[in-house]
Amino acid sequence: MICPECNNEYAGGITVCPVCNVELIDEKEFRERKTQTQEWVTVYTTNDDIEAAMLKSNLEFAGIEVVIIDKKDSSFPVWGDLSVIKLDVRREDAEKARRIIDDIQENDKESE
Ligand SMILES: [Zn+2]
Repeated sequence: MICPECNNEYAGGITVCPVCNVELIDEKEFRERKTQTQEWVTVYTTNDDIEAAMLKSNLEFAGIEVVIIDKKDSSFPVWGDLSVIKLDVRREDAEKARRIIDDIQENDKESE
């Protein structure tokens, strides 16, 4: 469980952050909340788990913090949109992230 105020993680049993006195949320909800703030932008969408994981590790290698939003986890249906996995990065990293993704995809084309 994680505190949405101070981002501290607490082990089982604790439901309220002793520092901030706010209720703890689970990791999934924490990630969803994080991406709801203005700071995060989607740089890529795909329906391929492996591609998403590959791009995430490439971006993290370049020092960019990445959050994968997988709509397949959620219970509400996605109409007419097969691109259900989103890669979100911080706004200040977005340009760099897009350039890295472009490079990776260029290299893929060349190797075919
Ligand atoms: Zn806290």
